[in-house]
Amino acid sequence: MKEIDTKVITNEVARLCVEAATYIECDVLKVLKKAKDNESGLSKSIMEQIIENDELATNENVPMCQDTGIMICFVEIGNDVHLNGDLYEAINKGVSKGYTEGYLRKSVVKSPLNRINTKDNTPAIVHVKYVLGDQLKITVCPKGAGSENMSKVKMLVPADGIDGIKKFVVDTIVEAGGRACPPLIVGVGIGGDLETCALLAKKSLLRPIEDESDDPDANKLEHELYDLINKTNVGPMGLGGKTTALAVKVNLYPCHIASLPVAVNIQCHASRHKVVIL
Ligand code: SF4
Repeated sequence: MKEIDTKVITNEVARLCVEAATYIECDVLKVLKKAKDNESGLSKSIMEQIIENDELATNENVPMCQDTGIMICFVEIGNDVHLNGDLYEAINKGVSKGYTEGYLRKSVVKSPLNRINTKDNTPAIVHVKYVLGDQLKITVCPKGAGSENMSKVKMLVPADGIDGIKKFVVDTIVEAGGRACPPLIVGVGIGGDLETCALLAKKSLLRPIEDESDDPDANKLEHELYDLINKTNVGPMGLGGKTTALAVKVNLYPCHIASLPVAVNIQCHASRHKVVIL
């Protein structure tokens, strides 16, 4: 049994909050640069500014976007891990410390109705998965409101089929336009039930940007959606161009014979997540 002190969790989460806000993932930067070379005129200039912004953030240790997000934490806890305290409390203390000491924008309100700011960006949204082993894996994923607000869930029916799924995804991206800050990473969850498909879509955004699904049907759909989305001419920041999506990720899960739940979770170009394994 591995003993983990919850103070270590707090400190690591605090560190990851600042790093996620500041340092763009290398794989995302690589794909942004490749996409920039494919653009011309205004769309190329926008891509150059996005890349310059991300590189400046890294070099100057400042957030790459003013919206440093609400913190989503995915936790995998092994059956041979013992904590000396409360996991949720440890994570929230880490978020509070990271956002306060890192001078990150506090964007969480206590209630969606009273809109009073909690002033330390807590509480985080924490998803815990039980796994085998003696490791604790924490992935932090700050999510800005621009792209999250344009995300959607729809309960399709089997008769809608693949064409219905494609239409829903592409319509969602076109409706989002510039408000989701494209170029995007488009996470698509298909199957499960109402909340499961949304979680599938969100989790798909954690996959490496150049990763492709192992499932042949999902893989085919990822390629088809990528092509369809990039033909919409939404383009960088919604001002037209070839690059609307940097990547499309499709995650599947079994579902009821009469259901076809589909979720589209949009990730803006400020794709941020960091991982620690304890
Ligand atoms: S959608 Fe993304 S890039 Fe746009 S303001 Fe929000 S966090 Fe920043």
